[in-house]
Amino acid sequence: MEDFIYEKDANGIVTVTMDMQGQNANTMNARFEPGMRAICDRLEAEEGLAGVIFASAKPTFFAGGDLNDILATETADEATFAHVEANKAVYRRLEKLPVPVVSAINGAALGGGYELCLACNHRIVVTDPRAVVGLPEVTLGLLPGAGGVVRLTAKLGLEKALPFLLEGKQVRPDAALAAGLVDEIVADRDQLVPAAKAWIRANPDSHTQPWDQKGFRYPGGDAVHPRIRQTAIMAPAMLYKKTRGLLPAPEKILDIAVTSMKMNFDAALRMETRRFIGLMASKEAKAAISTFFFGTQAVKSGKVRPEGDRWQAGSAAVLGAGMMGSGIAYAHAKRGLPTQLKDTDMANAERGKGYSERLCDKALSRGRLDEAGKAALLDRITPTTGNAAAGSIDIVIEAVFEDIGLKEKVIADTWPMLAQDGIYGSNTSTLPISILAEACPDPTRFIGLHFFSPVDRMKVVEIIVGDKTSEETLRKAYDYVQQIGYMPIVVNDARGFFTSRVFGTFMDEGCQLLSDGMAPAAIERAAWLAGMPVGPLQVFDEVSLILSQKVRKTHEALDQRLGVDSKFGAHNTATSRITDAMIDMGRGGRQYGGGFYDYDAEGGRTLWDGLGQFARGNSEVSLRDAIDRILYRQAIETLRCMDEGVLNTEVEANLGGIFAIGFPAHTGGAIQFIRGEGIEAFAARARELAAEYGDRFAVPDSIYDRLRDDKAQA
Ligand code: NAD
Repeated sequence: MEDFIYEKDANGIVTVTMDMQGQNANTMNARFEPGMRAICDRLEAEEGLAGVIFASAKPTFFAGGDLNDILATETADEATFAHVEANKAVYRRLEKLPVPVVSAINGAALGGGYELCLACNHRIVVTDPRAVVGLPEVTLGLLPGAGGVVRLTAKLGLEKALPFLLEGKQVRPDAALAAGLVDEIVADRDQLVPAAKAWIRANPDSHTQPWDQKGFRYPGGDAVHPRIRQTAIMAPAMLYKKTRGLLPAPEKILDIAVTSMKMNFDAALRMETRRFIGLMASKEAKAAISTFFFGTQAVKSGKVRPEGDRWQAGSAAVLGAGMMGSGIAYAHAKRGLPTQLKDTDMANAERGKGYSERLCDKALSRGRLDEAGKAALLDRITPTTGNAAAGSIDIVIEAVFEDIGLKEKVIADTWPMLAQDGIYGSNTSTLPISILAEACPDPTRFIGLHFFSPVDRMKVVEIIVGDKTSEETLRKAYDYVQQIGYMPIVVNDARGFFTSRVFGTFMDEGCQLLSDGMAPAAIERAAWLAGMPVGPLQVFDEVSLILSQKVRKTHEALDQRLGVDSKFGAHNTATSRITDAMIDMGRGGRQYGGGFYDYDAEGGRTLWDGLGQFARGNSEVSLRDAIDRILYRQAIETLRCMDEGVLNTEVEANLGGIFAIGFPAHTGGAIQFIRGEGIEAFAARARELAAEYGDRFAVPDSIYDRLRDDKAQA
């Protein structure tokens, strides 16, 4: 079997069907370039050639570059440059053929696959929603390096090309046609090659690309056109606002797109290659590929799922129709899971359902839901004040107030609802699961299911395995989380689990910086520059200082009850000092009328001018140190969680940190951040920070051993 099947018909039209052997999709693997080179040699020598069609024998058209190759690229050297140039050269040879070349797109054509289409004179796609086209490289920290930036800019013009290049949007056939990414649509796969042949016969002279024609003008205006010049000036600033200068890929893409318009086409392609190989070797691309491509794939494909048959919940009860319970009920109903929403009085339960109604109305107004869909969704939520029939519910989720006594009572009272093989989850954000489990008759079926707020947007659930939770319960919980379309992150029970614990260090580092005398606005800015979604002082206000104090006191009481010293939050020394003082001054957080910020009636906020009193230091902390402190604190706490067995895999550490607590995405997650810095360099910098700022940065060298030994991720 061959990778490329070459067939010439009686009219001189050659169809090249790509069928890369030993894999289920066509990719730019090591055999691609030599294979395509041989095809080009043959086409250029072909007598009586009238046209060429590229088709695929796989369910997809072409999947683009091989990401494993990119992960393995260590340096942007000349060999890598030559390799990428050789790949591009075959595309250039195709567009120089003296006959029309058409791509017959039977399925997804992404990245290098769509770049092949761009090198063709005509693109025909089948009306299958799976036949998406686009250049998603930017989402993986890369740029379309096989001519995609230069050709799409020349094909659509700068303004129309930029959204596709900078956002990596993948579009379905109808939208692709409307945007000019493809030229023709057919209803059926079988019609692709006949349609391509018909086009070739009707357009025998359409073999020169617009950009190779004399007097070529860029659609929408050349580089000197005032509007294009304006775009070229404004775009970098707009981009910076989004990326904060943390993502090299979109910056390079923008630069190539703009610069290419002023250059000779082949020189522009070479410039694209140069920038591309720089990104291939970058830590940002490795981070994005490892975490967002391979990491999410590992989670989705069940690589980190406990083994066993798939389970599906057919009925659910959510206890507590407050902020979290209402959100969880909506998540259930959206994915077809009928749910009893229980609260202490009917008005509360109804209000909880009202939350779903509001979300439905929003979706309705955006055209994402119709009236029938809304009615069906709402029909699945039953507000109630009572327990469901004994033995009738597959999954119960407790989301009442964060009060251990109340939770213990509720768990015992509602347990009988569970079906014989059902499971019981608690949405507690800090209480130990193994202790709550003691309130139920069968702790093996009890587990933590920690959702995040707002539930409809934070699509991740921290699953907490208690001392006695069975493997089967964990598997069912995992399947349930995936059933409702959320990402499961499995952790073992410990104070603060993983997410609350790491998040606590972020807020504490904000307080530490305040304590060191850094200006509050500079602290917030440092977090922004580090890539955090919001500053630590702002987020502390949202969480509320009162809640933070309450959690600390709950754990102190728990320690007393158990006769242990859990050392929960032991490193968070500034938090306790500052929260206690702030609360005494009536500054409990946003919902209590103000905290680190003052809030006005319009929702605006300004930093409170009394924060200077917490400064004990000399305000000499540099912005660089502040940024590092914010990132290193969280990374070190994540490492501790790995070391203590709270976290099981790097993939979950990385994804959980990004999606649940907003650890900067460009790093690929906390552990990937350490890898990106280099383990030894990270350790050295942590030692420096420890020497200057305190023991919370001091970690035993052995803590890195697991990362040193385990180069490959789960
Ligand atoms: P909330 O105060 O908004 O809602 C709690 C609800 O529970 C109220 O409607 C209350 O009437 C109801 N309730 C009280 N006793 C009950 C009982 N015996 N039976 C049924 N309902 C009862 O609280 P919330 O913010 O939704 O938090 C709920 C749980 O989720 C807590 O354990 C909290 O720690 C956890 N959590 C909260 C967040 C968050 O950001 N708010 C995030 C993750 C987890």
